[in-house]
Amino acid sequence: MNKAVYPGSFDPITNGHLDIIKRASKIFDEVIVVVLVNPSKKGMFEINERVLMIEKCIKEFPKVKVECFNGLLVNFMKKNNSKVIIKGLRAVSDFEYEFQMALMNNKLNPDIETFFMMTNAKYSYLSSSSVKQVAMFGGCVKGLVPDIIIDDIRNKIGDNNFYNLYK
Ligand code: ADP
Repeated sequence: MNKAVYPGSFDPITNGHLDIIKRASKIFDEVIVVVLVNPSKKGMFEINERVLMIEKCIKEFPKVKVECFNGLLVNFMKKNNSKVIIKGLRAVSDFEYEFQMALMNNKLNPDIETFFMMTNAKYSYLSSSSVKQVAMFGGCVKGLVPDIIIDDIRNKIGDNNFYNLYK
């Protein structure tokens, strides 16, 4: 079985992430989205909240599941019997970091390959941090994240700031 792992912070999941997930699920038999715990990055959403939001967004994709993991990605890969890491590339700026990570993961386990997927041009400007910034300053996040998690973002930020530019 051709199983791939799509790792990231997903703080929160965006339409750019979801696009990669959908496209990857057309190629692989199973895609495991894994929310990696990064001890040096607090984030806006708790890890379990990020997982719950992803669960809502992948309901209609039976080949996709979500988990969280605290530790080295290569250990998660081994535990799940997968040899393929999926990464999305937006711009040249992503490349340098992703290149380093891919080589490091391959060094830690030479059986592991990283597959890069180009962003959908529609979402090439989109990142979780830009979504958080827009939301925190009262901008509209519709079209940036799946509709089904907009209320989760609203609840996290508080109604006071949310969409006040549009009310
Ligand atoms: P970010 O916080 O920058 O959105 P994550 O760590 O959550 O990033 O991203 C996980 C993976 O998804 C990374 O491989 C990242 O390059 C990719 N990714 C993030 N946003 C997009 C996008 N808009 N289009 C394609 N890939 C993306």
